[in-house]
Amino acid sequence: MGGTFDPIHHGHLVAASEVQAEFDLDEVVFVPTGDPWQKSGQPVSAAEHRYLMTVIATASNPGFSVSRVDIDRDGPTYTIDTLRDLHAQRPHAELFFITGADALSHILTWKDAAELWGLAHFIGVTRPGHVLTDKGLPDDKVTLQEVPAMAISSTDCRVRVTSRLPVWYLVPDGVVQYIKKYALYAPGALGALSAGEGTVGALPRRPTKETSAR
Ligand code: ATP
Ligand code: MG
Repeated sequence: MGGTFDPIHHGHLVAASEVQAEFDLDEVVFVPTGDPWQKSGQPVSAAEHRYLMTVIATASNPGFSVSRVDIDRDGPTYTIDTLRDLHAQRPHAELFFITGADALSHILTWKDAAELWGLAHFIGVTRPGHVLTDKGLPDDKVTLQEVPAMAISSTDCRVRVTSRLPVWYLVPDGVVQYIKKYALYAPGALGALSAGEGTVGALPRRPTKETSAR
């Protein structure tokens, strides 16, 4: 499952868990996107923060893991590269790519879209406020799955923190504490790790069509 995960929330986790159960997947790999880039006019938190929040959120589930392939690759994140890297790391694994209804609707605009179908099977999951459709997508490469409706978005979580509203129970407890510890999403904060503490990405840049969809 690819995502910005800024921050990871229970909508991501429920979707992953449901697809894992339905398709009997050995592992769900959460892949945070690469270095910070501008998304809808807002800066994105440093990749290292988003990676660590994703690790915290998934650590207790033995069937969940987190991959650094996208955050360790230079340049904008494209799913085609994500899938190629995961395939190289797990040459015998059958890959499934989990994506919400909003992102699925943009898939044909993704880089090398025609090649995606050869690398993974795509599972589109329901998301409140978005229509789930596989119109125009290859029938044998895309499956739609209903998951419990979680009307949560990272955008809403960020706005809530900035507005001093609680995000308890929208995101895992450890993520609430991590956000507080590093003052992420505080008014004026960019969420970058301080110098010497870890990876701080390049200056925010404009998203591609694909990165803005994730
Ligand atoms: P943002 O508001 O910053 O775009 P987001 O909540 O959409 O954040 P992303 O990291 O952009 O989260 O999403 C990663 C993937 O998870 C996407 O495929 C998205 O469609 C899916 N997703 C996110 N939230 C939900 C949800 N509540 N239910 C189902 N799928 C979701
Ligand atoms: Mg999104």
